[in-house]
Amino acid sequence: MTLAFESPRLVDFQIIDDARGRLGVVEAALHAGFVFRRFYFLTETRKNAVRGSHAHKRLRQCIVSLRGGVTIALRKGGKKTIYRLDTIGQGLVLPAGYWRDLYDFTPDALVGVLASDSYEEEDYIRDYDAFVDWEQSRVATVGVPYIELKRYYDVLGSEMERIISEVLQSGQYIGGESVDRFEKSFSKYCEASSAVGVGNGLDALMLALAAKKIGRGDEVILPANTFVATALAVTRLGAEPVLADIDPTTGLMDAAAVADAVTARTRAIIPVHLYGHPADMDPLLLIARGHNLFVLEDAAQAHGARYKGRICGSIGDAAAFSFYPTKNLGALGDAGAVTASDTKFIEAVRKLGNYGSTIRYRHDAPGWNSRLDPIQAAILSLKLRHIDKWNERRRYLANRYNEGLSDLDAVRLPSVQPWAEPVWHVFSIRVPEKYREPLREALTAQGIGTNIHYPIPVHLQPCYADLGWKQGQFRESEIISMESLSLPLDPLHQDVEIDRVIDAVRTFFSARRRPHHHSNELQDP
Ligand SMILES: *Cc1c(COP(=O)(O)O)cnc(C)c1O
Repeated sequence: MTLAFESPRLVDFQIIDDARGRLGVVEAALHAGFVFRRFYFLTETRKNAVRGSHAHKRLRQCIVSLRGGVTIALRKGGKKTIYRLDTIGQGLVLPAGYWRDLYDFTPDALVGVLASDSYEEEDYIRDYDAFVDWEQSRVATVGVPYIELKRYYDVLGSEMERIISEVLQSGQYIGGESVDRFEKSFSKYCEASSAVGVGNGLDALMLALAAKKIGRGDEVILPANTFVATALAVTRLGAEPVLADIDPTTGLMDAAAVADAVTARTRAIIPVHLYGHPADMDPLLLIARGHNLFVLEDAAQAHGARYKGRICGSIGDAAAFSFYPTKNLGALGDAGAVTASDTKFIEAVRKLGNYGSTIRYRHDAPGWNSRLDPIQAAILSLKLRHIDKWNERRRYLANRYNEGLSDLDAVRLPSVQPWAEPVWHVFSIRVPEKYREPLREALTAQGIGTNIHYPIPVHLQPCYADLGWKQGQFRESEIISMESLSLPLDPLHQDVEIDRVIDAVRTFFSARRRPHHHSNELQDP
């Protein structure tokens, strides 16, 4: 699958004929997929003239035939493609990195060009040999980024700019319709009765616990292998985090460990749908019901994931989401939300995030300032329309990894439990500890970005040194922290990028399989 913004394509823009004549319309979002910053046109072109004869490093263009005809030859990677524009209303959307020649103009030809940026000589390559060199140097140095957020701008830029400008023009920069609209559509997406937008995922967790009046003297159970925010939400309220180790097969909170951790002071459980794979909720809900505990899903990595058909965000009593830019549903900065089926509870969260106030200048609780801002809400509403398609693509790429790496003995692929429809926020493999750093270095050397989720489990974090947790106390979480390595997986990665990662991992291990290649054998660290 090639992404639309990477290959040239012909588009038909809108033509409206009526009694008065003809109207043609080119919409940035609809037809070109990028924002226009410059327009120029070619006319009175001499017979046999060749125009263009250059490439752009970054500039994108939409070439439209306004009258007459023209032939456009494109070159990339040694391949030549020829287009003829001779119908009014036809355009050619041209990504960066293509050499173009325009020729065979009809005498009446009028060709318009919509360009993504202002003129910059730096951006031109005007010599064909230099273009070929530039292309080759790009191929040689091109790696695979762990994630490249700008690609979302490449895909949705014109729509993003349009909706941001709507917020700018509305004059409402806190709350308002943009936030209301997102909260409604997100709660609907999560099949929850209501949702409230907050400042970030950590606040979503903390405000949800605070709305349940959890604080000093209370205990909250959470997994030892999670992002530190899950624990920080508890300690920020003065409550005590009680850790449960993970199940070694799933890497997720182990219900038996949770049952053991319950005391008379336990008030809540926070299961984490880590890497976008739902935790086994039914046994946890059973424990919670038996002890009257609040179940707060940490769904920061699981927008759209399903557990036995139920969507994350509507399984526990409430759920906390993060819209940090790299999350499956990401804003252009910090943002978060809480969902629940209890509308009163959601209003309590809203109040705490708004200085403990619902009536202006009357403060019923010493709250916080943590609100979702309208620009982020508008961006999130836009991206929400794409999330199912993007999650589907994550599944496709995860399958590609699974097929490409399944026969490597040294690699443990992420397990998918029968109850789960994961959304692959992270594709985390496990390799024997001695291979993890060398593999990571080998990938880095080829420009392949990786990550470790997470190198230090919660109980060994320096910030919690005084809580009395010991090395060895949550053994499975410690082991996973030494063995896991996250490979690039984002919906906007191309298939060939994932294949490059697969090849690099395979090459790393095949060099270590052949006993006669002693020079390649790794030393145990
Ligand atoms: C990202 C994340 C958070 C925190 O979200 P922020 O928006 O960064 O505050 C909490 N829990 C988990 C599991 C996360 O991945």
